[in-house]
Amino acid sequence: MRERNRFEREVHHLGLREIGVYPSSEEIEALKERETGNQTPPRLAPGQFGKAWAVSMLYKNDDFGRNLVKLLKASPSFVKMAEKLDQRYASLWEGDRDHHITEVPKLFDKGVITTGRFQGRRVLEVRSSESGSFFRPFGPFSTGSYDVIQIDKPAQWNLGGWVELIAHESAHAFIFAAGQNKLPLNATLKARIDESIDNEILTRKIEAKVFSEAKSSSAGKKLLDQFSSTTGSFDRAVVERDFAEIGWLNTYLETFVLEDQKLEAIRAQKLDDSTVQSLNAQVDAIPLGKRPLATYLIAYPEFFDPQQNKFRKFVSQYAKARFFNRVLDARWREFNNRPAKSRDSEENMLKQHAAAFFPTQINYTKRSTKP
Ligand SMILES: [Zn+2]
Repeated sequence: MRERNRFEREVHHLGLREIGVYPSSEEIEALKERETGNQTPPRLAPGQFGKAWAVSMLYKNDDFGRNLVKLLKASPSFVKMAEKLDQRYASLWEGDRDHHITEVPKLFDKGVITTGRFQGRRVLEVRSSESGSFFRPFGPFSTGSYDVIQIDKPAQWNLGGWVELIAHESAHAFIFAAGQNKLPLNATLKARIDESIDNEILTRKIEAKVFSEAKSSSAGKKLLDQFSSTTGSFDRAVVERDFAEIGWLNTYLETFVLEDQKLEAIRAQKLDDSTVQSLNAQVDAIPLGKRPLATYLIAYPEFFDPQQNKFRKFVSQYAKARFFNRVLDARWREFNNRPAKSRDSEENMLKQHAAAFFPTQINYTKRSTKP
């Protein structure tokens, strides 16, 4: 990439030229070319939400990409949802993603654009990921400066899985941007968790509806013939116990509690991004096998520090929470490999994990007695 004034580019990419900073005409031409070139993926929606997906290059302008878009557009529910999202969002990027975004957040306040033609809209980035799929809004209970949809791509043969995943993460953004989950700043962890589970259930219902509409369309009858719905349960107790799609094998409830602890540590100790990155690297380098996994399930577990070549305890609350992500992941993987598993042994795992680090007011909803 040629060197350019980053800030100018970002302003342009956001469609905020009217704030008085103009990119060069050469730059505009280059962007137009990328926007209209053959490589540009088909749009899920005509506006900014559609653009955010197209720029992500998660799918291309090939048979697969065109079929995927055709299927989603065959769902009236998805089209309606995308229309709203087109109005509520501005895409972070335009035709090119090869630059940094460090100065862009200055234009935002609380995840909302403060000036220009997209004033009042939230900002969305859609990006590819190798550590799970999720929607993470900017807000009082998250870090970052704008809303992100992260997609861990299913295999290309799995067209049905793609439809469900795009419907699912779009539904999360839809529910959030519609303001259905505007919790007060002083909302308790319990209130936030309850709302997150409510949202997950609602999101799954939307996902299921989009998939069934797509499947029963004329395109779907051909393209989704081999696929059946894989949408998860709408039962609260089951959702809490489901593994969240965040890269680690942690249940939804485990994930919520640990994310909350990490965020609290980031705030309390004013950790910046680079500190967080280096804590992540340190925690991820800890060899778990130096002690039995169960011995880590205490408030301040001892772990082997490969840098200091000795056992020690955590000082950083953030590092400790991330370490629990890893310990629980290792325990669930080991559990899933057991030849004989039962409902009781699973409940026992959940209980042990909850006892190790859940605040007392957070508990799993009891399972219904039905098998
Ligand atoms: Zn979800």
